Amino acid sequence: VALYDAKRVGFGGMSIHDGYYASISAVRQGIMNGEFHILYQPCVDMRSGRAVGAEALVRWNHPTRGPISPVEFIPLCEASGSIHALGHWVLEQAVSAAAHWNAAQPPGYEPVGVAVNASARELMTPDYADRAVALCQAAGLSVANLGIEATETDFGTASDNVMVNTEKLRAAGVVISMDDFGTGFSSLERLTRMRLDIMKIDRAFIGTIGSATADAPIADLAIRLGTAMSLGIIAEGVETREQADWLIARGCFLAQGYLYARPLPLDDFVRDWVNIEPD
Ligand code: C2E
Ligand code: CA
Ligand code: CA
Ligand code: CA
Repeated sequence: VALYDAKRVGFGGMSIHDGYYASISAVRQGIMNGEFHILYQPCVDMRSGRAVGAEALVRWNHPTRGPISPVEFIPLCEASGSIHALGHWVLEQAVSAAAHWNAAQPPGYEPVGVAVNASARELMTPDYADRAVALCQAAGLSVANLGIEATETDFGTASDNVMVNTEKLRAAGVVISMDDFGTGFSSLERLTRMRLDIMKIDRAFIGTIGSATADAPIADLAIRLGTAMSLGIIAEGVETREQADWLIARGCFLAQGYLYARPLPLDDFVRDWVNIEPD
């Protein structure tokens, strides 16, 4: 299964062993050896220029392969089953980091939340929601300051457990986001039946804003749809001032992207984006 999936994500000419670098034992070892770390990318309110939260993005510095992108290793972790150990570690680290950066906030400061990506494979495990809530309680983070991001396709997974977990998380007060909106396979009918808090517009639809040949009809549609459904809307991959202005003019105020910040090491994120004087 691992090999098949590895081929599917585009490893041309893999040897028979290549799919196994993300095995359960390799990931467990990697966690213990400090091979993984998390970068935090601010989610910015484009009107104020302040961070309302951060997305946790995992990195793997492999002992022999060097730095590997999550685009490559996450699908392999999903195929091997190591995603459960890795996802739990990411959740634990992110929740603990956000608990710390919020703990010292004086009155008048808005809390800065943290959002973690969850794979369908993780959301299919019956205890995912309970574990996430328990980690918040253990770390002293208000559940309202935790977000869970799942893709459109993941929400549509045949397993009922995905829905059970997202409903449970939402009932507890966790913020639920649909990641990469527009790239999945969900019908608009199903979208109206799901209870979500936030829609994240995939950067594929943001990148065309302002280009001479093609404008951004999907981003425009997504903002109208999200607004009509009373969802929070986050634009991913905002790289230019022109894109930011275009989004603000249409009522999308939250963004992540290189215009504001790349994913940052924890200390840099806290220094530059947390504990900013309120107005
Ligand atoms: P994603 O959830 O859609 O995350 C956004 C990706 O866009 C990140 O890539 C981020 O670095 C990148 N990005 C942000 N702003 C810009 C920009 O302005 N321009 C461009 N070109 N890119 C931008 P990254 O960090 O390589 O992560 C890739 C994917 O890996 C994520 O996509 C997510 O699906 C997955 N991933 C990352 N961490 C985790 C994790 O802890 N668990 C799971 N299940 N998946 C993860
Ligand atoms: Ca995400
Ligand atoms: Ca995304
Ligand atoms: Ca993505």
